[in-house]
Amino acid sequence: MKAVLCHRPGVLDIVERPSPGIPAPGWVRLAVSHVGICGTDYHIFEGKHPFLEYPRVMGHEISATVLEGGDGVAIPAGTPVIVNPYLSCGSCVACLKDKPNCCTNIKVLGVHTDGAFCEEITVPAGNLYPAKGLGLEAAATVEFLAIGAHAVRRSMAPAGSRALVIGAGPIGLGAAIFSRIAGYDVTLLDTSPERLQMAAEVLGFTSGIVANNNTIGAVKTKTNGDGFDVVFDATGFGPSMEQAFNFVAHGGALVLVSVVKDDIRFSDPEFHKREMMVIGSRNATRADFEHVADSIAKGLVPVDKLITHRTTLADAPRDLARWAHEKTGLIKAVIKVAA
Ligand SMILES: [Zn+2]
Ligand SMILES: [Zn+2]
Repeated sequence: MKAVLCHRPGVLDIVERPSPGIPAPGWVRLAVSHVGICGTDYHIFEGKHPFLEYPRVMGHEISATVLEGGDGVAIPAGTPVIVNPYLSCGSCVACLKDKPNCCTNIKVLGVHTDGAFCEEITVPAGNLYPAKGLGLEAAATVEFLAIGAHAVRRSMAPAGSRALVIGAGPIGLGAAIFSRIAGYDVTLLDTSPERLQMAAEVLGFTSGIVANNNTIGAVKTKTNGDGFDVVFDATGFGPSMEQAFNFVAHGGALVLVSVVKDDIRFSDPEFHKREMMVIGSRNATRADFEHVADSIAKGLVPVDKLITHRTTLADAPRDLARWAHEKTGLIKAVIKVAA
């Protein structure tokens, strides 16, 4: 089978690899249909991922069709599925709390182990969800949207909350879309006026703040001096995460969606006087995948507007290398793998 292999930072090409063959008991062999290109994939390509070992087949935003199940698997061949790419151990302290998204032994397809920029993969049957009512291209967007949906669920904020989403990239837009679905009043904050304009025109997020040296003033103006009930940071940028503490209303919550490989600092009096909740949000769970798939099926997520770029497996090495630095107009790129 064909696979796109990242040999080392900056070097991608198509290679021939053996098919994964008959799946182990409880596992399923899949024909990959579509696979999204994530910020993580660009980082791996550019050598910016903190703990990745090369060579690596990337790809964790996956839709597929079942080819065959191993012993004990009852899913018929031909079933269209969404793949949860987080392989959890089932027995650690997090898994036993029903939080496999933060398993201590987690392996993410395309990061810790080879992923889906290829024609066939095998995964545990428990990592599959039926793509009922969804096209297979739309089904490949469920994973990245589930990250935002999970962050919204983690915030525990009620409908009517005023929400600020910092960072209008794909993950931030996912958090914004699922904030809107949860009934929040959403404002986006980004350094790029173009990105905010695109979010307004394409997705209807007309309340935006361009980050500048008076961002705190703009936040106050938007909220009658209160700050936001819930703030999501999806920037992956330490100074932004630190500043975000100042945007939270008294009694509100800060959800850190993206991660930085660094310490972050905050003022304890500012944090304490608000009785603020600071919440980490990592990956997503079954409930999030199902909520996203249902929301897409109900027409609540404009998937066709989120997918701005398309390519094929054969052209992916060239296109991914280009899109790693040409981001204008790009929200989500998807590779069509199946013919
Ligand atoms: Zn991703
Ligand atoms: Zn575990």
